[in-house]
Amino acid sequence: MLAAIGAGAACAPAAPRIPGAAPSDVPVFLQVQVAGRIMNIPLEDYVLGASLSEVSPVGESAPVTARIFEVQAIIARTYAAAQVGRHKNEGFDVCDKTHCQLYEPSRLETSSFSAAARTAVARTAGRILRYNRRPAQALFHADCGGYTTTPGSAWGGPLLPYLPAAPDDLPERTHRAWRFAATEQEWVAILSRDPRTRTEGRLRDLRVAQRDASGRATTVDIVADRTRQVSGETLRAIVSADRGARSVMSTRFQIRQTPGGFQLDGTGFGHGVGLCQVGTMARARRGDSVDAILGHYYPGAR
Ligand SMILES: [Zn+2]
Ligand SMILES: [Zn+2]
Repeated sequence: MLAAIGAGAACAPAAPRIPGAAPSDVPVFLQVQVAGRIMNIPLEDYVLGASLSEVSPVGESAPVTARIFEVQAIIARTYAAAQVGRHKNEGFDVCDKTHCQLYEPSRLETSSFSAAARTAVARTAGRILRYNRRPAQALFHADCGGYTTTPGSAWGGPLLPYLPAAPDDLPERTHRAWRFAATEQEWVAILSRDPRTRTEGRLRDLRVAQRDASGRATTVDIVADRTRQVSGETLRAIVSADRGARSVMSTRFQIRQTPGGFQLDGTGFGHGVGLCQVGTMARARRGDSVDAILGHYYPGAR
């Protein structure tokens, strides 16, 4: 994609320095690719737009909404600080997609939570999560399904002590269950769209070969004329590319053979690493503080 340089970039002011202050690794401005254009955006404006794009606590009381946005503002800011230069080769820091963090500035005008989010961003201004003095990888997802997992287990990322596989002990109905069923023919059609899962002949079996501590399928066997193995996240990505993100919503699933095909029953939505957003809402609702919520999902980070 060809990226145009936004009007703001030409006159980007240098980061202001307070005499005597230690140099900060928290940027003042961020180069964000927004709808294909590179824009130079003040960090706190970016945090506001990203927070509004990533949460919408419909039906929650004002104090609960405030806590949810304070949590999201701190992780949006932390995530930005840790991701500076992620798209360096393309000439910007972060993109506006889930690859980095959703950023839809139009939400500032359209969202009914704009005022609450603005207050939360101001109240937490400059606050980020750190581990070993550096900005933490403040990963988050919609719903852990009852148990978070590690980046290593989800995509082979590094083990970080503050991103553990841990139960998200909350009332059972907090986390959602989902089902994805398809006929054998439909499965073959979906799997054949990607070279990693292309199958020939009949699909005899689809089974979980390995699970991690959180119960997620880390390896799945696709048994046809020959057996192919893929990671659970690869299978989820391939089905999602064809059927949408709300098909195979997580890798925390069981596979069952049905009379005409295969059915996945699962819990959770997203990769399951770091902060669980439905868990955050449940904790905010029962009165947990912002620090208690962050301390639960990122143990050891400060
Ligand atoms: Zn990105
Ligand atoms: Zn959870």
